[in-house]
Amino acid sequence: MLKVHSRCDLSCDHCYVYQHADQTWRGRPARMPPATVQAAARRIAEHAREHGLPIVHVVLHGGEPLLLGAAGLREVLAELRTTITPWARLDLRMQTNGLLLDEELCRLFVEYDVRVGVSFDGDRAANDRHRVFAHGGSSHDQVRRALALLRRPEHRTSYAGILCTIDVRNDPDRVYEALLAESPPRVDLLLPHATWDQPPQRPGTDPTPYADWLGRIHRRWVDDGRPMSIRMFEALSPGGGGTEAFGLAPADVLVIEADGSWEQVDSLKTAYHGAADTGFDVFDHSVDEVARHPGVAVRQDGVDGLCATCRSCPVVDRCGGGLYAHRWRTGSGFDNPSVYCADLLRLIDTVDDHPPPIRAASGEWSATSLVEELLDDLATGHGSTSTLALLAATQLSITRALLAACRDRSGTTAAWELLVHLDQAAPEAVRAVLAHPFVRPALVHRLDPSASPGLGAAVDPLPALAVAVALRAGVPAALSVPVRADTITLPTLGSLVLPGLGQSAEVTVRPGEVQIRGGSVAQTVLLDPLASQSTGWLPTRDVPVPGGRLLLEDGDPYRDCYGQPVEPRLEVPAARALGRTLAEAWRAVQRDVPAHAAALDGGLRAVVPLAPDPARPLRSATARHAFGAVAVTPHPDPETMAVLLVHEWQHAKLGAVLDLYDLVEPGQGGRIRVPWRPDPRPPEGVLQGVYAHLAVTQVWQARAATDQRDASAHAAHFLAWTRDGVDALLASRSLTAAGERFVGQLRHALEETRVGSR
Ligand code: SF4
Ligand code: SF4
Repeated sequence: MLKVHSRCDLSCDHCYVYQHADQTWRGRPARMPPATVQAAARRIAEHAREHGLPIVHVVLHGGEPLLLGAAGLREVLAELRTTITPWARLDLRMQTNGLLLDEELCRLFVEYDVRVGVSFDGDRAANDRHRVFAHGGSSHDQVRRALALLRRPEHRTSYAGILCTIDVRNDPDRVYEALLAESPPRVDLLLPHATWDQPPQRPGTDPTPYADWLGRIHRRWVDDGRPMSIRMFEALSPGGGGTEAFGLAPADVLVIEADGSWEQVDSLKTAYHGAADTGFDVFDHSVDEVARHPGVAVRQDGVDGLCATCRSCPVVDRCGGGLYAHRWRTGSGFDNPSVYCADLLRLIDTVDDHPPPIRAASGEWSATSLVEELLDDLATGHGSTSTLALLAATQLSITRALLAACRDRSGTTAAWELLVHLDQAAPEAVRAVLAHPFVRPALVHRLDPSASPGLGAAVDPLPALAVAVALRAGVPAALSVPVRADTITLPTLGSLVLPGLGQSAEVTVRPGEVQIRGGSVAQTVLLDPLASQSTGWLPTRDVPVPGGRLLLEDGDPYRDCYGQPVEPRLEVPAARALGRTLAEAWRAVQRDVPAHAAALDGGLRAVVPLAPDPARPLRSATARHAFGAVAVTPHPDPETMAVLLVHEWQHAKLGAVLDLYDLVEPGQGGRIRVPWRPDPRPPEGVLQGVYAHLAVTQVWQARAATDQRDASAHAAHFLAWTRDGVDALLASRSLTAAGERFVGQLRHALEETRVGSR
């Protein structure tokens, strides 16, 4: 935290800088001199270089940083970027009261990629209770004007959110509504700074007024479907991850004052005069030296650094003893629970009383932490079985939604009604058919034929789906089914190919057979897997693999969704050969990287043979709408095929994540250079690339450990690609917060991969 200006144009009576015990600001220069900015930047860069930090966060703070003006801020930002970015990605932030924010400053922040948080306490009455000028005048309109500027599309990337200090005398509903009206990406609700010596206001007899006040906001937030991120509630949820105020993570904030002094966290100023002092400065002392200061070191100890009461508290992992400053009491120092202890206990109860709306079968997921847990798990490179199950379930939900949309395009309701009946009578059969990878492409094509003109006219897919489910379930049924090129394809089962069938056929389902009438055809077809092609039945073949059975999908017309030619139905010897290769490849994945084999097991259902291309004999592909399938050229070598399977399955998993969450900022038109392609790639393409290459690196690392030929060289090659891609992505500023988290975790996984290879 860089205190670039130590004075302020507001005179808030709750300000810890000017109104609380510490008064050291009085002896400091108003502006941080350029030489001090340079020394601070060099210290940060030095620390990043020596520790190989991938990222450094710098918050411009005050006082009021905007008092530096556009020219002064540009100098500071340029100095920081020039000095630090050669060594680490620089995440620049600013905390401001917003009064001086104008278009020129917004453009500057967009140019230097600075995310700006604005202090704003809610509705006019709430905000002006404390946030006023020295003459007592309101700041409300000016702050709202600043927030409106940040909300503009051209500035939106610089809008970090709102910091709101609460006061239990304010109306929580009005505060909540005022915050929501500003569409902040994130809200930080702060408890007013207080200590055991200076306890917080507790009007009335309520022992936990802060928990009750926050509980009201929490209820509104839950009822509204959590329309914005509120960090306090998310941090206090199980697995919420913590913040400076909550949780047991080591403290990682240091302050550089306007005179170059290193200080501990700012909030300590509320405890006593000089509480944040370290005696060090950026001219003579490194970050490592400051980090050894006892006041900083004690905050690296997790639960061991807390008082006895907190250490035995059942919610210590979430509360973490509250904000360090709030534990202060003359005599016992910081060896106390938070002065808000009772409120924190009750607030955690409140958070627990309103369970998040989404729970997976394991019951382990919470909506607030769902995305983080899911991304962290997948960022290991493979992802756990429960994550794969969750992704598969969300893909099925999307398919069901598309199915309902197609119902409205259907000329008849018979197929839909049969599906609804079967969903009750034979839900497993419905699930098995709808989870087939090429059902969604069929539904998408029905809804938007222009998106894939190569697939020809769109036919209603519902009747064939209903027939497939009825056959799987052994339920008699009769339907009129559209015909494409004399063919009716029954997903997961096979195709009926009967020349002369016409445009539509009446299909009657009986156990093990179907009766068909259409065009010049009237015949009964036995659905015997061993039946010859002359009967008109071409069953979908499958391959026994360690995880179950893998479909060799070379008949479904909607498999032609990879942007490259697919192979027509394979002759029997070719199908058998590919089946053997796939089974051996799967076993190779199990041998080398069992976690990736489990991930394949969790969702890979079908492999599509691609047509051979002498110019590119080794090709593979995935399609965003076809989760559960990968396409490959029928390469005969199982070891090569194993790498292709793992590589493509990464794309499929990440595609399923991207159906749920934006990892790349929408509308990002930039391109990123990567080592594996000659042309610059869009950020999403790079993200897909690094995720696939991470897995391939892990495969080769495992092979290198068993001394397989050339494996070490391959491992080093893919590791370098992945690392360069990850660094380029992180430097591109094209990722959302979730994307940054994901890619940051990928970097950790890479580090582990690297260490594991030594
Ligand atoms: S705007 Fe911030 S720094 Fe300025 S007086 Fe208010 S709380 Fe203090
Ligand atoms: S401050 Fe209170 S609620 Fe928090 S960990 Fe300590 S004892 Fe538990």
